[in-house]
Amino acid sequence: MSAGTFLHELVGSMSAGAAGNPTVAMVEAAFAHHHLHWRYVNLEVSPEDLGAAVRGAKAMGFRGFNCSLPHKVTVIPHLDGLGPSAAVMGAVNCVVRRGHQFIGENTDGKGFLKSLETTIDPKGKSVVLFGAGGAARAIAVELGLAGAKRLTVVNRSESRGAELVALLRKQLPLQAELVVGRGDYAVAAGTDIVINGTSIGLYAPEARLPLDLASLQPGMVVADVVFNPVRTRFLVEAAARGCATLDGLGMLVNQGIVGVQFWTGITPDAAVMRRALESAMGV
Ligand code: NDP
Repeated sequence: MSAGTFLHELVGSMSAGAAGNPTVAMVEAAFAHHHLHWRYVNLEVSPEDLGAAVRGAKAMGFRGFNCSLPHKVTVIPHLDGLGPSAAVMGAVNCVVRRGHQFIGENTDGKGFLKSLETTIDPKGKSVVLFGAGGAARAIAVELGLAGAKRLTVVNRSESRGAELVALLRKQLPLQAELVVGRGDYAVAAGTDIVINGTSIGLYAPEARLPLDLASLQPGMVVADVVFNPVRTRFLVEAAARGCATLDGLGMLVNQGIVGVQFWTGITPDAAVMRRALESAMGV
């Protein structure tokens, strides 16, 4: 079979349970809007079949694919190389064909950064980041690469928090410290950016972050990775205290934009992608 057999260029989304992925609508809306005869297809891949799936995608001429949990780390041995931030994080969510190679990238942190940069340049800034899981790790590494000066990681479990801070100290020039979450955390004066990188609030509009709200000052930039609900309790309360806020949907749209840029070389229309995502999510 030659690549010419395909009517469309193909990009995949490999996850262990592929049903109901709203990013399909977002990426396909971008392809359609820019008159690209491309398809973005959901592919349900079990962990034991991941290597065969990657080899198959390569053999069939896929331009790349996204991969989500549980494949973000285990996909790495099946790739030909890693982009700089994926190499630091040790996690891949976006694979890009470059020549004959499949290169692993991580667009979660890049999407966050792109969203953040609409409001503030993180270079030289002090940041408080709640969480030390996959999303927080991706954000922390991109903030470090973008020149943030200081990062305080606030996490419930010490082990995951310590692992992230050790990685940041080893690989990046920023000052990193860990606060193990015990009760409400008070953000220090002089902090520029406060981020919820945990899953607190996801599908739980009443859930609250362990944060002393009175420590949020007007002018701080507050961001949430949680995208459903879009206006989380954390963002609503931060806005009421005069902070500029950025929602998790912006991060999700921007990681989609970065992926489309990687695969196609074009910069897609953000508004078209956000509308398609909101419609697919019913928000
Ligand atoms: P992980 O499971 O890897 O990490 C979860 C993090 O949340 C950990 O730091 C965990 O702390 C913390 N946490 C969870 N529940 C609680 C709680 N009750 N109290 C205190 N801390 C808690 O998840 P991910 O990093 O992959 O995802 C985190 C969130 O980011 C999800 O809501 C996900 O939907 C969202 N996300 C958004 C994206 C976007 O584009 N907007 C992209 C990727 C993810 P501990 O270490 O103690 O367990």
